[in-house]
Amino acid sequence: MAAQLDLTLLEPHAGRLQRLLPDGNGAERAAYMLLGQAAVTTDPWSGGRRLRLVSHAWRDIDPGEMVSSSGNHVTWGTGGYMRLLSDAVAGGFVPALVHTHPGSTAFFSAQDDRNEAELARTARVKGTAGLVSLVLGGDGSVRARLWPADGGVPADMSWVQAVGGRFRRWPGAGQDPRDPDDHLERQGRLFGPGFNDMVRSLRVGVVGAGGTGSPTAMLLARLGIGRLLLVDKDVVDTTNLNRLHGSRRADAVAGLSKVQVLAREILGAELGVEVATHQGWVGDALARDMLKACDFVFGCTDDHSGRQLLNRLAYFYGIPVIDVGLRMAPARVGHAHDIVGRVTTLSPGRPCLICGGVVNPRRAAEEALERADPEEFQRRKAEAYVIGSGDPAPAVVTFTTEMASVAVNEMLAALTGFHGEAGMVPTRTRRFHVRDDRFLAVRQTDACPVCGTPSVWGRGDTDPFLDMIG
Ligand SMILES: [Zn+2]
Ligand SMILES: [Zn+2]
Repeated sequence: MAAQLDLTLLEPHAGRLQRLLPDGNGAERAAYMLLGQAAVTTDPWSGGRRLRLVSHAWRDIDPGEMVSSSGNHVTWGTGGYMRLLSDAVAGGFVPALVHTHPGSTAFFSAQDDRNEAELARTARVKGTAGLVSLVLGGDGSVRARLWPADGGVPADMSWVQAVGGRFRRWPGAGQDPRDPDDHLERQGRLFGPGFNDMVRSLRVGVVGAGGTGSPTAMLLARLGIGRLLLVDKDVVDTTNLNRLHGSRRADAVAGLSKVQVLAREILGAELGVEVATHQGWVGDALARDMLKACDFVFGCTDDHSGRQLLNRLAYFYGIPVIDVGLRMAPARVGHAHDIVGRVTTLSPGRPCLICGGVVNPRRAAEEALERADPEEFQRRKAEAYVIGSGDPAPAVVTFTTEMASVAVNEMLAALTGFHGEAGMVPTRTRRFHVRDDRFLAVRQTDACPVCGTPSVWGRGDTDPFLDMIG
């Protein structure tokens, strides 16, 4: 099924949307939004263009502008709408109208067609990049469409998804039903008949194809994720063979890349998964389209600059990022082993990796220098001006694989709510050496330029990418 156009509602905005419904008299209600734009030039699986929109700001309609409303109509003044259009043009956002149909499932009525055609004409005159209309049905269902800037007919969104601790997705009209996958029947028995269709519709990125990334990718393929993206710059080395799922000694001898090996294994299993790969750094210009095209991204990388980038991606684009890390240290006199795994889930409204102390900004800057100017990096390292990454860290496959499972289970929690309606846990630490799990409350810093700054949430495309310099 083609997905040229979709819309993401961030949790704070999806919450506002649902609160439009329980109006005592069952009357229709309305509101506005501003949407960020994510233009995907080349979708890594289809090769086609896509436009993804993401909610940036919610605006209630000034009660003084409301004219009348009933169970099947709502009318309000246009002053707020004209301000919305001006702000959309000034900030590069797409304006959106939201209204409810409390007595039915979400659909566009003939009256909606007439009203919106007129409002879209006004938006065109103002010079916005089109106008989005979103309808919320009384059953909680959502439909959305884009009236294009060129005055053409409105285009239905392939999906609208609400993202946060949970991930909910409503398909647009006219999508081809697909045959159920026989090999996924047993998991459908646990999560219900809609689950397999949902995972098939997902595009999931795995950044880092090493100790945690390789089992993560394998698990996602077994779960029936429709499209996988694998990103890693490294080739297989003999010292990786203790933990890289799917790797063979011959791969190290042949110098195959980690993403090549994983793609071979996943495609060879014939599970109906489409695999796209990028052998390179996650911040490469080439990787940007690929990341923007994803519905979830797993951060399975050791590098601080890559983590820093994924951290921003989660907030700018409303793409949930599930970040995994491990720390292992051998026992020494007077101390037991120290073996700790961590999974952090990132989405607007939740604390980020910088607030969690997971990203070391100094190491991130050093890695950026090493990529841009390797000679200068080596010179500074020799003079001990840079910390560097030190000796290779210990790594044991059972621990890395277990944390990959914990990470993928957080995605399942988002899709199904299996461990609670709140869905994904913000941060979980597994201390293997003392047999416990901790759920530490990370404080969101008000001054944080990422998670504490709603003006970047759902911002979408910016120049430079993610407002990152260098
Ligand atoms: Zn309507
Ligand atoms: Zn933060």
